[in-house]
Amino acid sequence: MKILIPFSGGINSTYSLWRYLKETDHEIHSFRATEWFEAEERKAESARKMVQWLKDNVRDFTFEEVETSGSESDVPIKVPMRPGFKFEYNIRALVPRWEKLIEVIDDVKPDAVVRGSALETSYNALLSVSYGDIRERMYNRDGVKFYLSGNRDLTQAVDHLNPSDPDEWMEKVWFPMTENFMGRFEQWEAIPDGLKALYEEPHKPRHTLLENNCRDCLFEEVQEHRTDLTGREKDLAIAKIGKYGPYWKDADPDAYPGVRMSMRGSLELLKGHVELAAQRADEFDDTVGELE
Ligand SMILES: [Zn+2]
Repeated sequence: MKILIPFSGGINSTYSLWRYLKETDHEIHSFRATEWFEAEERKAESARKMVQWLKDNVRDFTFEEVETSGSESDVPIKVPMRPGFKFEYNIRALVPRWEKLIEVIDDVKPDAVVRGSALETSYNALLSVSYGDIRERMYNRDGVKFYLSGNRDLTQAVDHLNPSDPDEWMEKVWFPMTENFMGRFEQWEAIPDGLKALYEEPHKPRHTLLENNCRDCLFEEVQEHRTDLTGREKDLAIAKIGKYGPYWKDADPDAYPGVRMSMRGSLELLKGHVELAAQRADEFDDTVGELE
């Protein structure tokens, strides 16, 4: 069985690639797409070193680097973050990523594909199912299984086509499945030290707490300062405030402000540990905001 695993060098995809190499004997084909917004060579270099580490310390596999074909749309593409929710995301950066994956699946012809997912990326609907004809072109393939890396069971294939109504699929398949998803902090704990040492943070220098718009850098602050909590405890504490994962039903469709709620969750965990966290959490306006 040939398994295709997209790999960026971020925590979720690193965990996923490492785990499939270690726990299965399937043929692994991995690739890394250079994104239009990623000018930083340091992350490409880090990913290459991780690939070499995995080949040296776990087992050999195929790895290639590809360019993301096409660029993002000039105009915003707005979709509701969940069925029936007022808050909308601009997903224009996601479309070229999906198109590239479709192209690579056509090219590599794998028996299975592992798509990146984790607890903290499950606050919205699975937009590749709800947007346009991406669902049909990506998932409607005879003999190709799809796995989601947030699932604890590596053999749990996900049927992305039934129920056929996307809203019903989110309600009956996607959100119930995310209740037990692993999050980035739990995954980080599991990754071997040799790989951790090669990891590059999303932004360098890290955004400060006063730059109130970077979820990724807030996660790094939580990782650094809340060593008193287990990975799972950190994941769940943020999910509870963010109203996703096991808490997805708590979100109010009219008032839910999207990804900003997970930033609020990180700030709560940083109170008393990082200067300004309490102030930032208290003044956090969780009624506005947009994912860029
Ligand atoms: Zn940042």
